[in-house]
Amino acid sequence: MLRDSIAMHSRNDGDYHMSLKGKTAIITGSNSGIGLGVAHELARAGADVVLNSFTDRAEDHKLAEDLAAEHGVKARYIQADMSKGDECRKLIESAGVCDILVNNAGIQHVAPIDEFPVEKWDAIIAINMSSAFHTTAAALPLMRKAGWGRVINIASAHGLTASPFKSAYVTAKHGIVGMTKTVALETAREQITCNAICPGYVLTPLVEAQIPDTAKKYDMSEDEVKQKVILERQPSKEFATVEQIGGTAVFLCSSAAEQITGTTISVDGGWTAL
Ligand code: NAD
Repeated sequence: MLRDSIAMHSRNDGDYHMSLKGKTAIITGSNSGIGLGVAHELARAGADVVLNSFTDRAEDHKLAEDLAAEHGVKARYIQADMSKGDECRKLIESAGVCDILVNNAGIQHVAPIDEFPVEKWDAIIAINMSSAFHTTAAALPLMRKAGWGRVINIASAHGLTASPFKSAYVTAKHGIVGMTKTVALETAREQITCNAICPGYVLTPLVEAQIPDTAKKYDMSEDEVKQKVILERQPSKEFATVEQIGGTAVFLCSSAAEQITGTTISVDGGWTAL
């Protein structure tokens, strides 16, 4: 039976969504790309949202205002640097409520391991992995108080498989898949679930930033790089979209997913089936 707070309702376009009315979602690294897309889908399903990044610009706060107006929910932007443990914890504490935590903030750097800059390694491990330790630790007491919670880690196909030159990223993403399983076991009796979404390639600023250098390296056009290099490992030959990642997050918050915990859901066009 569906619980009152997660009742199913139909929208005019015939789509079905779980209502997340009354829930508050905090999405780290959400002034762009997948994080912003996930925030929009959770808000479309009725959740109030907290957006975050390390910047504090008028345009960051405007993103929250626009999202609130579009979906008729409460939204605010809280600046916090996910490379710093105390700021991760402060983000959750200053929000004061956290029913849904989406650990999404992430960066990338590509280099052979023997040339990998130490500061890039440290930043990737901190932002892509350790931030989720700090935010989850701060959010679980709030979820326990509410008697319900969802932790959704945005891992990657690189949390399940590797590519050369991405040692820090692959390490961090495998780490977050391990953390997902551990948190799920620690919360298994508490109406709290913890899962990881593993996207393949999604055309966001993080991926777009890798295109010009690759085009130069292989003497290709940017379109050729997208099709022949980036999507080479994605059997569907299509990018996943931020809406699809957001829709998967909404599903994980639904009553249909109550018994799904400690696992990964790939949204990768078949990449990890290879
Ligand atoms: P993006 O660059 O558009 O978004 C990254 C977000 O993280 C931005 O909002 C950025 O401001 C934020 N961020 C970076 N450093 C931060 C810090 N120190 N503190 C707070 N926020 C910070 O990239 P994206 O593709 O949307 O990536 C989002 C997540 O999805 C990442 O964890 C990434 O690893 C993962 N992912 C992306 C893809 C893809 O193909 N785009 C595939 C698999 C996984």
